[in-house]
Amino acid sequence: MSQEEKPVKVFTGAVYECVRCGTKTTQEELSRLPEVKCICGYRVFKKIRPQVVKQIKAI
Ligand SMILES: [Zn+2]
Repeated sequence: MSQEEKPVKVFTGAVYECVRCGTKTTQEELSRLPEVKCICGYRVFKKIRPQVVKQIKAI
């Protein structure tokens, strides 16, 4: 039984948010850049889940 080794597929659904300016970037966009860097120049991102944001109605 030969087991094919498939390349690990990068989870492209991950979204990162710059902790400085709050710009959201996808992992796919970041991987295209030569270095992980925000448009504002900051390099610290926090990973946020690509979940559907719940809409909160302001009464
Ligand atoms: Zn930024």
